[in-house]
Amino acid sequence: MKYYSTNKNSELASFKEATIRGQAPDKGLYFPEAIPQVDRGLIGNIKELSNETIAFNVIKPYVGDEIDEKDLLRIVSETVNFPIPLVNVNDGIFSLELFHGPTLAFKDVGARFMSRCLGHFLKDEKKKVTVLVATSGDTGGAVANGFYNVPGVDVVILYPSGKVSPVQEKQLTTLGKNITALEIEGTFDDCQKMVKQAFADADINQKLFLTSANSINIARWLPQQFYYFFAYKQWDYKRYPPVICVPSGNFGNICAGILAKQSGLPIDHFIAACNINDVVTEYLHTADFKPQTAKPTLSNAMDVGDPSNFIRILEMFHHRFPELKNNLSSFSVTDNETLETIKKVFVEYNYTLDPHGAVAYLALEKYLKDHPDMSGIFLETAHPVKFPDAVERATGKKTEIPVSISSILQLEKQCTKMSATYQLFKNFLLD
Ligand SMILES: *Cc1c(COP(=O)(O)O)cnc(C)c1O
Repeated sequence: MKYYSTNKNSELASFKEATIRGQAPDKGLYFPEAIPQVDRGLIGNIKELSNETIAFNVIKPYVGDEIDEKDLLRIVSETVNFPIPLVNVNDGIFSLELFHGPTLAFKDVGARFMSRCLGHFLKDEKKKVTVLVATSGDTGGAVANGFYNVPGVDVVILYPSGKVSPVQEKQLTTLGKNITALEIEGTFDDCQKMVKQAFADADINQKLFLTSANSINIARWLPQQFYYFFAYKQWDYKRYPPVICVPSGNFGNICAGILAKQSGLPIDHFIAACNINDVVTEYLHTADFKPQTAKPTLSNAMDVGDPSNFIRILEMFHHRFPELKNNLSSFSVTDNETLETIKKVFVEYNYTLDPHGAVAYLALEKYLKDHPDMSGIFLETAHPVKFPDAVERATGKKTEIPVSISSILQLEKQCTKMSATYQLFKNFLLD
């Protein structure tokens, strides 16, 4: 498989090149030249297949022979080595729980796959790679965990001060070794801008070999297709395919789901659930894409004003608005609605949502109200314990802290605080 840049001004790249570079030299995002079709047998026999086998078959055409089958199978097995259950919440609504990985968020899947691919490609290189990552919350922890102790790789994480939850902050600031955290006095968009600027900076690129672990990297983006297949494997509620609702920020996750559908996975329709950062919701009403400044909300991992993967969605629908609109709906949900939803679902169905899952639950419910014959799945992207304040406010009950988290909360935060000034960041990297 070759990958082209969405800006169409760079040469085609192999899987390895695209994984190591992250972003194309013309600042576009890499996109597969052709969307492979999964074997019909894979869909027909999916209930008989292990998650490893499904994942291997889904990713194989994207990797080609750039990683030999034995190594790819190992990478894939390590990527999906935790449960991803589909849980019935109420009649017609199911939760795909993506939070059973090491950092309790769905980003573990992409981060684990990417770190292992990069580790594999770099094992014979002398040059050290620096992974730069801006995080609105969960990316940092998943990437830090995925890359911790990977030889030849240093990780620098930028996160917005005061805008990530205490558990999230501990997950990205307590590892040490090859993981460095920078606490930026600004928003997630500021962090992302600083990272983008560093990638474009000739002085830095002369000294360091940079790559990105944000969801623009194909090795993080593509494996996110896996769990849409796992969801379908567990789907036997109705004979017809589900609607899938994805809580969206940078739109990497939903974009992977749409890719899975275009590869042959039966999914009826997609819903992008957004908080008040509603650029895409607005776009679907007006056909006008107007980036905004990110506004802080309870579902902080979705506080994105200019979602970088949106270009990939346009690409998948050949930049044709009507085609896109037929396949994708979007709803914007306020913080009050988020809290009310957590409360309602807890009281009525005894199921605890995190704020991101709550946004998705409500968006799905709104869609199903207009489509009463359908039923659907929302992605529960983080464990509620990562957002205890909101969850306790809504349910009035303390969330139980898993052992893996209580031990991390005891550890000392190690990070460097910095204003959102590019020059300071540059000096830091060059030091
Ligand atoms: C990152 C994140 C999202 C948003 O995913 P995108 O791929 O950026 O759209 C949603 N929920 C949680 C918990 C996240 O960490």
